[in-house]
Amino acid sequence: MADELTRRARRIAEFIEPLRVPPGEKVDLGRDFDPRYKAGIKKKTDGQRLLREGVDMLAELQRRLAADGTRGVLLCLQALDAGGKDGTIRHVMTGVNPQGVHVAGFKVPSPEELAHDYLWRYANRLPRRGEIGIFNRSQYEEVLVVRVHPELLDRQRLPDPGGHKSVWKRRYRQINDWERYLTENGYSVVKVFLNLSKEEQRTRFLKRIDVPERNWKFSAADVRERAHWDDYQRAFSEMLSATSTRWAPWYVVPADRKWFARVCAAAVLVHTLIEIDPRYPDVGEAARRELAQAREQLVKEAPAGAPPDPYASSADAERRRKR
Ligand code: ATP
Ligand code: MG
Repeated sequence: MADELTRRARRIAEFIEPLRVPPGEKVDLGRDFDPRYKAGIKKKTDGQRLLREGVDMLAELQRRLAADGTRGVLLCLQALDAGGKDGTIRHVMTGVNPQGVHVAGFKVPSPEELAHDYLWRYANRLPRRGEIGIFNRSQYEEVLVVRVHPELLDRQRLPDPGGHKSVWKRRYRQINDWERYLTENGYSVVKVFLNLSKEEQRTRFLKRIDVPERNWKFSAADVRERAHWDDYQRAFSEMLSATSTRWAPWYVVPADRKWFARVCAAAVLVHTLIEIDPRYPDVGEAARRELAQAREQLVKEAPAGAPPDPYASSADAERRRKR
């Protein structure tokens, strides 16, 4: 059993390795990452089986994370429009206890948010110990959309308004430091970029227009943003190169096939939790004695004709049935 788990853990680590941006390495999205890569998995159904496996592991690991209550996980999800963030969250988190997961989405900042330092709103939505937090868009918007549209920076009322040039480097450092601080305080930070091709984005936009049930998902602003495609690719490449760190790595997940992106995102999360290796707490000798006493008491309270411990009886029967 333990061997099987070790084998799985190793398989998952190998599976996600090519997606990880090596810390300190300068990457170029267009050159280094293929949105259509699928790791040799031939059929979508094979991918779906893998996803089910990942989701089951995630559910068990999350139960342990919650029981242990000392560590937390933050998954930052970034993508261009129609990259599949919502679907990924929905599929990867099925089966996980909703009480143990918190999803926080980040849109254009409100006046209240703009009245604070730029990391304030992200810090406000961090997971608690024992929880998995998912950021649907994240602190990285501050070096992506804000970089592509520098006029957004003016609204942030920084002390050095002339400093557009140096601001991105400074922000990379600040974000790395912040993530390191979180890591050192018991939170694993892991980052996933859903890497969509320009042609697949066009197809998905058209689908949103052509299928009436999807019209609500379409926004004309998305097509306007698409005009900045090359600027975004550059901003992403630079950001990935500067902020994939030993303590909080980036994974570039090929996103042209939704099923594959979901398998990858689940694998990254499972890998992160395996590394944490959360355990159910051992209740200790005194608590075990208390449990035994409570059990004795409850067994004595069995009404006439009822089994003294209905749970133990049915568990026994189940074991016999399985034999
Ligand atoms: P969906 O379209 O799937 O519902 P979404 O995450 O794209 O989800 P939208 O309301 O469409 O949500 O878009 C949110 C917008 O807010 C994005 O265009 C994003 O770039 C923008 N945004 C996020 N953070 C910031 C920021 N700090 N400054 C300016 N714009 C931001
Ligand atoms: Mg949108």
